Amino acid sequence: MSCIFCRILQGEIPSARVYEDAHAVAFLDINPLAPGHTLVVTRNHHSRVWEVPEAELAGLMAAVKRVSRAIVSATRAEGLNLLANNGPVAGQVVPHVHFHLIPRRNGDGILPEWKPREYQPGEMDAVLKKISDACAE
Ligand code: 5GP
Ligand code: ZN
Repeated sequence: MSCIFCRILQGEIPSARVYEDAHAVAFLDINPLAPGHTLVVTRNHHSRVWEVPEAELAGLMAAVKRVSRAIVSATRAEGLNLLANNGPVAGQVVPHVHFHLIPRRNGDGILPEWKPREYQPGEMDAVLKKISDACAE
């Protein structure tokens, strides 16, 4: 078993667990962006969010909600980012589905600002059709 999160779930590698249930396990990120930065991972191994069966994903999100509330309460954070990287190009290093729960404070500067762009003529309609068609599959 080479997946590092599977090894953590099996207890082969120690972790600072804050919560676990039938579908999800939450533990502190070893290299946090802020104190309390937590990872909530599926109990079963899946690489990408869209590969997780609905019932498991619903369970994962219930745990994400519970741990988010706990982090904000316990760290007195002013806000919290939920982030799920999917695929290496999106920054995913560990290919086992997980959400980052990152407590935020005014002026902490820990995530870069987005650089929004504008649609070119026709571009929005084209991508809209492709995605809505794919949703219907
Ligand atoms: P990704 O880039 O895949 O979304 O994030 C993977 C996260 O896992 C990183 O933030 C990294 O610090 C964390 N991580 C990697 N290895 C370990 C580990 O052995 N223990 C813990 N607690 N976190 C880890
Ligand atoms: Zn795994």
